[in-house]
Amino acid sequence: MWQRSTVNDTRTPPPSATASKSKSIQAVRGMNDILPPESARWEWLEDIVRRLMAGYAYRNIRTPVLEHTDLFVRGLGEVTDVVEKEMYSFQDRTDKHGDGAHLSLRPENTAGVVRAVSEHSLLHGGGQRLYYMAPMFRRERPQRGRYRQFHQIGAEALGYAGPEVDAELIVLAHDLWQALGLHGISLQLNSLGQPHERQQHRTALIAYLEQHHDQLDEDAQRRLYSNPLRILDTKNPAMQTLAEAAPRLLDFLGEESLRHFEAVQAILSAHGITWTLNPRLVRGLDYYNLTVFEFVTEELGAQGTICGGGRYDYLIEQIGGKPAPAVGWAMGVERVLELLKAQEIATPQATPDVYAIVPDTDSLPLVMQTLTQLRRQGVRVQMHTPADSRQGMGSFKSQFKRADASGAAHALIFGAEELSHGEVSLKPLREGNASQSTLALAELAQWSQALQSRL
Ligand code: ATP
Ligand code: MG
Repeated sequence: MWQRSTVNDTRTPPPSATASKSKSIQAVRGMNDILPPESARWEWLEDIVRRLMAGYAYRNIRTPVLEHTDLFVRGLGEVTDVVEKEMYSFQDRTDKHGDGAHLSLRPENTAGVVRAVSEHSLLHGGGQRLYYMAPMFRRERPQRGRYRQFHQIGAEALGYAGPEVDAELIVLAHDLWQALGLHGISLQLNSLGQPHERQQHRTALIAYLEQHHDQLDEDAQRRLYSNPLRILDTKNPAMQTLAEAAPRLLDFLGEESLRHFEAVQAILSAHGITWTLNPRLVRGLDYYNLTVFEFVTEELGAQGTICGGGRYDYLIEQIGGKPAPAVGWAMGVERVLELLKAQEIATPQATPDVYAIVPDTDSLPLVMQTLTQLRRQGVRVQMHTPADSRQGMGSFKSQFKRADASGAAHALIFGAEELSHGEVSLKPLREGNASQSTLALAELAQWSQALQSRL
């Protein structure tokens, strides 16, 4: 409930106004800077995702980071970890610009997407396939694979009720692991049925848990009547046996729900995708029905779920929209990147093709104009730049040192002597002791074409 989360008084001046000036300010705990060269891995992954989403005709959606707290309370359910204790919430000021609204940084993006889709009547002309890549915020205990600002890539298909869309989304995620070169990711599958089936299961489950009341931990006791299904999802090892022997939701599914579930499985089988049926898979958030799934790895310790999702046919109505079926998933970008690292999958580095060595400042106008041409032809060029060119461009030696460190494949040397003949020197930097050659400036376009065809 939002009442329980931190509510900041926005009228209080930030502490920095009074704090000592000498102490350097650091990032907020659990929130990471993503710096080069690591950021290149993010861009590489994002590029692959964009291509893949286009291949499945999912289109990009971007919604605000801040939403009304009530969207998450209604959408995720009040008795969930996220809403109970993980949201960053505050009350906006009440003045001529604001009405004292209770706002939260989004802890996930399905609710926001659903809100946007319904607010803009996007389902008017039929279903929508959408995807996003965006930061999320949860006030959890920071550890490997668990951060307070983290990133999700998510895919949502709204306005489609059939099992083929559930399957399409699972195949899409599976294709993503393939495209990234990841292996050893297993798929866990379950069906939560429909609300009336869950109701019957709930009665049986509560009766079972009441019988074993002495074995319930504090969380479970609190949730016994408010959200007993979540007790099955417990991470407490002492409660595993109890959860395992509990009545299975699958046994309460009617014919229609079973048919839906079987249709999903038939499509996965046709793709050669294997899965484990996990009757205890209920997902952390309240809004799911029918198909639920998770992709899990054993290589990341306790944070092994890299992607989770399912059908949420009642969410749109729950947040006040016109009822429409929907299904989607979200993956944790940090965890996927961590897994790429664990599996030693090399990703391309953002290195330039060419490093330009510029001995003197007088030639800068000509040099820079030439480099601009090269870049327009698609060559990635880094020009040597000293801290202050008013003190000269720096020695050849220091420039070559920088060229080497840049990772560029070639150095182009714009010596005054060469330039006076309309020429430039070319030195391969990565081919052992390959020798330097001379090129006419007029031949550079041709050379860059040859270079690109080799890339
Ligand atoms: P977990 O059980 O690990 O807390 P969750 O059920 O809360 O995960 P979801 O709400 O389903 O997670 O979010 C989808 C995915 O987002 C997760 O499978 C995970 O990969 C990632 N994720 C969730 N919370 C975090 C976090 N705090 N830091 C990094 N990644 C996260
Ligand atoms: Mg969680």
